[in-house]
Amino acid sequence: MAERDELFFKKKNAYDILPEDEINRAYGYAEEYKTFLDEAKTEREAVRYAVRLAAGRGFVPYEAGMEIRPGMKVYKTVEGKAVMLAVIGEKPLSEGINITAAHVDAPRLDLKQVPLYEDTELAFFKTHYYGGIKKYQWVTIPLSLHGVVVRRDGTAVDVVIGEDESDPVFYITDLLPHLDKDQAKKTLSEAFTGEGLNILVGSRPFGEEKDSDRVKYNVLRLLYDRYGITEEDFLSAELEAVPAGRARDTGLDRSLIGAYGQDDRVCAFAALRALLDIGTPEKTAVCVLTDKEEIGSDGVTGMQSAAFEAFISDLCRAQGVLLHHCFEKSFCLSADVCNAFDPNYADVSEKNNSARLNYGIGVLKFTGSRGKAGSSDASAETVGMLRALFEKHGVRWQMAELGKVDQGGGGTVAKYMANRGIATIDAGVPVLSMHAPWEITSKLDAYHLYKAVFAVYCG
Ligand code: MN
Ligand code: MN
Repeated sequence: MAERDELFFKKKNAYDILPEDEINRAYGYAEEYKTFLDEAKTEREAVRYAVRLAAGRGFVPYEAGMEIRPGMKVYKTVEGKAVMLAVIGEKPLSEGINITAAHVDAPRLDLKQVPLYEDTELAFFKTHYYGGIKKYQWVTIPLSLHGVVVRRDGTAVDVVIGEDESDPVFYITDLLPHLDKDQAKKTLSEAFTGEGLNILVGSRPFGEEKDSDRVKYNVLRLLYDRYGITEEDFLSAELEAVPAGRARDTGLDRSLIGAYGQDDRVCAFAALRALLDIGTPEKTAVCVLTDKEEIGSDGVTGMQSAAFEAFISDLCRAQGVLLHHCFEKSFCLSADVCNAFDPNYADVSEKNNSARLNYGIGVLKFTGSRGKAGSSDASAETVGMLRALFEKHGVRWQMAELGKVDQGGGGTVAKYMANRGIATIDAGVPVLSMHAPWEITSKLDAYHLYKAVFAVYCG
């Protein structure tokens, strides 16, 4: 007869299992990860960071017609906002490839194309939010501005304001509690509207008292002095307002990381870092850092773009392999965060099936909403393969689900990979307060995603 303990499934806190030296390694990894968070607050910055790191490890830009040999390291960027990196394996691509896909875009406030206006001698930027945000969370916090402005002559200028300690920051106002009688009666979504998220950018007038728009004028003068841009140049700009400040250890025990944009940079960093650390794998290993996940993965830089097929089919052609023969033997880890169980909001989750902080990475067999709609739903065999792989590599993991049945839901890039005929499953780091300006992850879970991705690349 089997013992009681053999029959029961019991989840375990990774702190009760992992040896001290591995916990220390996880905390060391967190330091590197925090640097990435600080230097890569937007998709463009993340791609630039990835290319710089990869180039330092011998990766070269892929060029059409290139000869492909085992051990070769190549990458291809897409409009500077997505990047695909590959380490060519010993086996031909007809044996399939191992992919990890994570996204480097994050919820934020984009400036409108005609953003600057003055009202009552205060200057503001109009914004149009990007991705799923709870608007009330974005008022009264320091914001920084990141992005690119393409000037009339076609030259581009990079903008980062608000990250250096000596920089000014930006701000969205809220009503004082003394005067919020009407606001307090509204629902959250009525009280805080997208059109109302206007960023305060100045109050000091320039010019004669009789002139109009003197504060706006002064803001434009400062922008021209620093960046050589005029108001018209905003038409061809991508400027993103994000929370200002650096990633921080969180909690007295420093076990947690607090930062903006950990969905999904906690997975993107693992996907990149693990690829840089592998030798020549058996099967070709591919890391995809994609854009536009938060708004549906459409567009040239999103996971639905043909850019991915184009890159892999180029590699295939170099070995005389058909793309679909490669895809049908491939595997993709869709590395995206999941929600961590939050005891402050316990009633949105079902305890047995939700991910907990420090219990390892969350694996989601399915996502979607209203009866798994919109989910690619990985097969039992795929989950089984992953179980065995994680067992072999000592990866701490737990099964996860995005909240109670019919509580809400969501999706990832998994289905876009699965729709290509690639066996795909979601796995990622559990996050508290996902999509908030400041999100929380566990250092152990973040490190175990690195281990998980490493395992996927190496098989
Ligand atoms: Mn995500
Ligand atoms: Mn998200």
